[in-house]
Amino acid sequence: FAPWDDPNEKPLIQFKGVTKRFGDFTAIDDLSLDIYAQEFFALLGPSGCGKTTMMRMLAGFENPTSGTILLSGQDIAPVPPNKRAVNMMFQSYALFPHLSVWDNIAFGLRRGNGSKQEISERVEEMLRLTRLEKFAKRKPHQISGGQRQRVALARSLAKAPKLLLLDEPLGALDAKLRQDTQFELMDIQEKTGTTFVIVTHDQEEAMTVASRVAVMDEGRLIQVATPSVIYEAPESVYVADFIGDVNIIEGSASQSGDKVEISWAEGEMPIRGTTAKTFAPGQPCHFAIRPEKVTITTERPDSANVLQGKVIDIAYLGNLSTYHVKLPNGTMMKAQTANTRRLANRGITWEDDVWLSFTDTAGVLLER
Ligand code: ATP
Repeated sequence: FAPWDDPNEKPLIQFKGVTKRFGDFTAIDDLSLDIYAQEFFALLGPSGCGKTTMMRMLAGFENPTSGTILLSGQDIAPVPPNKRAVNMMFQSYALFPHLSVWDNIAFGLRRGNGSKQEISERVEEMLRLTRLEKFAKRKPHQISGGQRQRVALARSLAKAPKLLLLDEPLGALDAKLRQDTQFELMDIQEKTGTTFVIVTHDQEEAMTVASRVAVMDEGRLIQVATPSVIYEAPESVYVADFIGDVNIIEGSASQSGDKVEISWAEGEMPIRGTTAKTFAPGQPCHFAIRPEKVTITTERPDSANVLQGKVIDIAYLGNLSTYHVKLPNGTMMKAQTANTRRLANRGITWEDDVWLSFTDTAGVLLER
């Protein structure tokens, strides 16, 4: 059982019907959400959807206009930020430039009531955890961006919060370092067992690090699920489109059991799919299929679904290539294949007439 599937598991954090208004603008709209201990939970959504507002309410910089937020079953509204077992790490890291790495990490601990010995041991432990032992005496300007990020993380974890909020924690790092640091973050999260809630613009980052992802739009949760469910079984076109690349075909459904045919364009065969949902005869629907589920060949294959078209564009991505194929009715479809040595599609190039094919279970049927 994952904790979110276990009826006996109590959530660490509960949003219960939380609304946050700024004047007459509703930033968070009657939102309910459970986050469990030791989760690495990601909030994902377009700019302005309310991610930071969620974090600020958890940290105590804002309170809900209505509804409650519980931490370990207790309403946190009356608890001031510095008394919450919650810490927030900002994108800017907010390190003290005149203090050494050691003193930056010790800063919060010194304001507590631990002995000198205890503080020292804790700082050493944090330095080991973030592999910063060698840099303890340096000032922030004498270390790299990635190391500064680790100092900020060490400082945020020093007081062993139950919950650490990370607002775009890797935003200042370049792409390669960012990837390495994602794995470090996951490792540190696992070692400390602290619950992490991360806000990121980067969907791949959210998919990499998170146990579960919440996709938000305009102050509401659109879907909350594991990365693979979000990717493989999006519940709406919004989610399918927001995460990863997708072909969306508009049509109307005609269902028989779990089999469904989607009529979609003059002169094209209906698309054959499967669904666990129920569609009324002729109900408008969207059929969503990931480019890597679409096979591209020069010979007509034997498959549940075949479409003919012409290659308009090829994006070479090293390990993968994405083919942009135009169908006779003008629809553009993307097919992505791995660039292995034994390519079925070897030699396919611009202007080639090709066949696109996919099985009847390769796509997802969504309501329109
Ligand atoms: P981004 O990804 O750009 O950081 P976000 O999803 O974190 O966006 P929030 O910062 O939570 O979005 O803001 C949500 C909405 O609430 C925005 O439209 C923002 O303008 C508005 N908002 C946030 N704080 C305030 C405030 N103090 N006063 C008025 N409006 C605010």
